[in-house]
Amino acid sequence: MEFQEGLNRPVAEFMQSQVGTIVRGTTVSAVARQLLFGQVSGIPVVEEDGTVVGIVTEFDVLEALLDGKDLQQLRTEEIMSTPPVCVGEQTSLLQVLQLMVTHRILRVLVVREGKLVGTVSRTILLREVLEKESASIHELTLCYWCERVRDDFITDEDKEVWCDLSDYLDRHHLTTAEVSFHPAFCSTCAPLVKTLMKREP
Ligand SMILES: [Zn+2]
Repeated sequence: MEFQEGLNRPVAEFMQSQVGTIVRGTTVSAVARQLLFGQVSGIPVVEEDGTVVGIVTEFDVLEALLDGKDLQQLRTEEIMSTPPVCVGEQTSLLQVLQLMVTHRILRVLVVREGKLVGTVSRTILLREVLEKESASIHELTLCYWCERVRDDFITDEDKEVWCDLSDYLDRHHLTTAEVSFHPAFCSTCAPLVKTLMKREP
């Protein structure tokens, strides 16, 4: 029941208010570095005055790379998702979850009079709500690129072991309800992504 009660709480209680942003006009090359080093999956794009105009995700950047675009010439506004999915601070968690599922997005921006005041990601929501629901949620590291998860129970001489989610769940007798995900790049994909990024000087 606590889970249901949690869903009625306003998003302001869950949001992250310290949020990195990108000003419109920034090159995608600079954004790619910010995404990689900030270890976030998406960054809001704002005007000089803080008005939210869009959001750029890792997928948008990777898509531009695959399309052979020159990231140093490409501007953020050319690849950002706009208008971004925004909510007010009093929007309930349930409504936010519905938006995430409907739009298949990882994060929703929280705005006050058009200006960014925070973001709320699927990971934060799952952690906040499910931790109260059950103390036995396993947080798995999930690779964005190949969608494998890291198996921290297996240690292969310091080498990371990555496997399919279904294999992981079978092996450890878990269901999808008992796991949450922390996004990352796996040991195979990280060097590939870095190489792609380095292609431009
Ligand atoms: Zn991977």
